[in-house]
Amino acid sequence: MPCTPDTTSHPCFTEKAAQSCGRVHLPVAPKCNVLCGYCNRKYDCVNESRPGVTSGVLTPAQAADYLDRVLEREPAIRVAGIAGPGDPMANAAATLETLRLIRQRHPDMLFCLSSNGLGMPPHLDALAANGVTHATLTINAVDPDISARLYTWVRDGKVVWRGRPAAELMLERQLTALTGLVQRGIVVKVNTILVPGINDGHVEQVAEKVAALGATLMNIIPLHPTHDTPLAQVAEPSPEAVGEARRLAGAHIRQMTHCRRCRADAVGLLHHDRSRELAPLLRECAQ
Ligand code: SF4
Ligand code: SF4
Repeated sequence: MPCTPDTTSHPCFTEKAAQSCGRVHLPVAPKCNVLCGYCNRKYDCVNESRPGVTSGVLTPAQAADYLDRVLEREPAIRVAGIAGPGDPMANAAATLETLRLIRQRHPDMLFCLSSNGLGMPPHLDALAANGVTHATLTINAVDPDISARLYTWVRDGKVVWRGRPAAELMLERQLTALTGLVQRGIVVKVNTILVPGINDGHVEQVAEKVAALGATLMNIIPLHPTHDTPLAQVAEPSPEAVGEARRLAGAHIRQMTHCRRCRADAVGLLHHDRSRELAPLLRECAQ
């Protein structure tokens, strides 16, 4: 049985750690293999703070150098992660090379990936071998009829799927990824975007299923309606609706309630993000 990674210094998995332990997201993954109905990755506005947004994209070597320079300025960093701006596993070569370089230079660093799960199953052994300690999978539904309303398309190799077949493929890969990560001793959080009128009556089933497969934590994130997306007209769920979803899901799996909806180049403490301040450094490293 693999060792359990130290989660006490991961600010997302352990709320107490958020006061003193920071994270840096390395934006090495520009492409995505799906189109979620709530995602628009075109915009990089400094007033926006949400996944998918970054001030620049780095190669693996640039990311390793950037991390070294960030650590000089922000020694509280305990976690290096890849959270976009696309999906790490749609950029598997860059993701794995970044992991390898960082693991060489920083053997004690926690390493975290955030993925939709579609491209993860073939790389599970490589992720474990390169020292991934934590992973987040975004699973919005465990019923393909529901998730079919949340994905515009899903691309597997050269084939683009839509509708229910796309949703079935996603679900199969996500559950395989979750099971495989847990089997390899990687601690898994599941993110679920709460979309009123689509999956708001379904989160408890998601919680029950992912808990049964060994996920440790669930993060229910209210939809942040974004312009030029199919779900732009859906209203953001109320705090009461989010609270009720967390209460129902919490009967099955521990709930995260301190998520800051970070950018793909987030850096620093969760409550003191320095991505804006360190954007010039990121751009310099990206040249
Ligand atoms: Fe956007 Fe992430 Fe969905 Fe890809 S997986 S479309 S980057 S939200
Ligand atoms: Fe942690 Fe949420 Fe930020 Fe991801 S988006 S790094 S889970 S606080």
